[in-house]
Amino acid sequence: MTEQTIFRKARLADGSLVDLHVMDGRFNAITPASAAGLSAGTDLGGQLVLPGFVEGHIHLDTSFYGDAWRPHIPCTNGFDVRERVAFQARNLSAAAPMAERAKNQLELCIGHGSLAMRSHVMVDGSVGLKHLEVILAICEKYRELIDIQLVAFPQSGILSSPGTPEFLDEALRLGCDLVGGLDPASFDRDVKAHLDVVFGLAGKHGVGVDIHLHDGGTLGLFQIEEIAARTTALGMGGNVAVSHAYALGDIPADALARAGDMLAASGVAIMTNAPGNHAFPPVAALRKAGVTVFSGSDNIRDSWWPYGDGDMLNRASMIGYRSGFYEDWELEAAYDVVSYAGAKALGLEGYGIEVGARADFVVLKAEHVPEAVVAVPGERTVYRAGRVVAKDGAVL
Ligand SMILES: [Zn+2]
Repeated sequence: MTEQTIFRKARLADGSLVDLHVMDGRFNAITPASAAGLSAGTDLGGQLVLPGFVEGHIHLDTSFYGDAWRPHIPCTNGFDVRERVAFQARNLSAAAPMAERAKNQLELCIGHGSLAMRSHVMVDGSVGLKHLEVILAICEKYRELIDIQLVAFPQSGILSSPGTPEFLDEALRLGCDLVGGLDPASFDRDVKAHLDVVFGLAGKHGVGVDIHLHDGGTLGLFQIEEIAARTTALGMGGNVAVSHAYALGDIPADALARAGDMLAASGVAIMTNAPGNHAFPPVAALRKAGVTVFSGSDNIRDSWWPYGDGDMLNRASMIGYRSGFYEDWELEAAYDVVSYAGAKALGLEGYGIEVGARADFVVLKAEHVPEAVVAVPGERTVYRAGRVVAKDGAVL
């Protein structure tokens, strides 16, 4: 797009009514809304305009969204990651082609207004690089519509699954943006050896880290401390995230205060999807401590749970609901988790509604952000680089 496009009467989050001028896919001017009568450009009619949402944690390879319904299989004796991984392997062996399922999820997310995404993709001794090859190809097809970061994710552990360090190394060479990890203590039973591989590969390839950590209590906290210490020692602040970090939701207040300070100082971000059946990181307390808290759908109709709709605005609503957020500033915080904080955690360039930023935005039937978070309006139009790409949930 080389000519100027104008979007008139856009309501920004601060309440101001403006005209958005777009050139070459970026906002090149934002001016007070022009006088009535001007008809050039697109009239947004005073609807709320927000930057595209950030889907910070999803699994494009393992969802059954759009495939046959798969009834949830409960763990036999409480939540057990190893058992869930086994259920997943069984389910995936009978699933529709991965490219088709990944495409369904991508369109679900884009349709709701997510224009940046971080997806974990299984890379381990059980599947090798098979999932990654499919996901890399499908992401390439969607690059005009959404920015995608891929995490090489050792779903079957690193030490528990022979060959995994080598597969992770190769995955990073093939283009994964980050290296993942999985419960270094409870799954691999060797925190140091697990993190040596993860941070060793991150250093070798110059990539970030995003580790799945379900371990609760002091065991989980110990691993968070180890991850933060390595992040500081390696100068990787801003490039490391811990996903789930359930432990932060079930440790005493004084321990949480220390953890919050440590995470903020080391620059380790925390991802939570406000899961329904777990203690989860206290979003307000961590934000107050200066920690970047971001979010994602995580599992959408997969072997872990049947929920998920790919709508990050609905996710903000869930975060607010589970966090007991009622006041406007709290609802705005829930929205921040799925937008600006997500952009910070993912290191996105040119995010926001401002001159110079990319013209990736969502137009919503809401007066302001607090209303958008509680109402989750389904009617919305999604623009990528100033062009409509989705309307009312459907990718055009
Ligand atoms: Zn996950």
